[in-house]
Amino acid sequence: MTTTAVARTGEAGTGAPILEARGLTKHFPVHKARLGATRSVVHAVEDVTLALPASAITAVVGESGSGKSTLARLFAQLITPTSGTVLLDGKAVTGRERRRYARQVQLVLQDPFSSLNPVHSVRYHLARPLQVHGLASDLDDDILALLERVSLTPADQFAVKFPHELSGGQRQRVAIARALAVRPRVLLADEPVSMLDVSIRLGILNLLAGLREQEGLTILYVTHDIASARYLADVIAVMYAGQIIESGPATRVTDSPSHPYTQLLLSAAPDPDRAEPPSLLGRGAPPNLIRPPSGCRFHPRCPHAMAVCTDGTPPAFDLGTGHFSSCWLHAQGLTSAQSRPLAGAGRGTGAAPGGAAGGADSAAGGGIRGAGGKHRAAGGAADGGKPITDGRTAPPPRPGPAGPGEEKR
Ligand code: SF4
Repeated sequence: MTTTAVARTGEAGTGAPILEARGLTKHFPVHKARLGATRSVVHAVEDVTLALPASAITAVVGESGSGKSTLARLFAQLITPTSGTVLLDGKAVTGRERRRYARQVQLVLQDPFSSLNPVHSVRYHLARPLQVHGLASDLDDDILALLERVSLTPADQFAVKFPHELSGGQRQRVAIARALAVRPRVLLADEPVSMLDVSIRLGILNLLAGLREQEGLTILYVTHDIASARYLADVIAVMYAGQIIESGPATRVTDSPSHPYTQLLLSAAPDPDRAEPPSLLGRGAPPNLIRPPSGCRFHPRCPHAMAVCTDGTPPAFDLGTGHFSSCWLHAQGLTSAQSRPLAGAGRGTGAAPGGAAGGADSAAGGGIRGAGGKHRAAGGAADGGKPITDGRTAPPPRPGPAGPGEEKR
């Protein structure tokens, strides 16, 4: 059974989607095949459908190697999908429209230290897009206005600085100002705070929130930190091993996580209010995406895995109010053979050694204690195929990005 991992716009969306991915798949060839042999590929993104509602922040959350940055690059059209389409205003982008698309959809990269040219001043970085796209009315005034929009003041002093004279947070603000120079409608922010000190992350997140609220910008926020996603986003889509496994309004996904992997991610997030450690173990490493696990890709690590989980990819079950979860625990009418618990479930026994995806910094890496115990006990498919509903899980942490505010240099 195949399915499409779907993240649809729920009540959190404020309008028709601007940007959409439909059935996006990206396979990266690993090495050249010998004559007659099949070429190996990394299944980085698999059949992802995701719509970005207008004037809202959509967070794509997942551990390292989950495919979230590849998805952002597919949206930015920096790489070509193996299959599937990206739609802007409901229309596929063709060769002739690439320049218009590049103006409307801008990417902000993770590393502000390498995304700025060290031999050029801030002024040069902001002047180039204005000149290339013919958008400058008064170049100096436009540059100063851009710097003020990202709170780099006094703007005239920042304009003459070079990247090495700026802190990490200030460089990221320049990168955001450069993206804003071409008046985009969509900003793709790929881990924009992960390389910054904890103390300055909040300032960048608040800048993005302000751009959404005051200027109606549509933002895709890619992160491994579900705590910051909850703080910033209207909609959250959780990715695992190249697929979207849960999506919905941010408060629903974080207050009532329905997928065992989302529960694991939340249990790994810092929670100052949590007195007791969560009760279940979710072991194992991210899977090898050259040969991803059959059925549900999370089944080698899932403490609730059933026989059916190894056979078929779970479809996206609609839990209401725009909340979707791709997990067989929500299926009705499973047979007792299908709902039979899998031997060794949750011990990561099926995870391929030396997996291509993930790394030591996986947010939900081996041995992290999960919060999913009540999920199944609440009446999943194992008790005769009755659907479980969300809202039955252990209270999740109330996360928020750490740090008092923007840095001073
Ligand atoms: Fe995947 Fe099955 Fe676990 Fe659901 S219960 S997350 S379908 S392995």
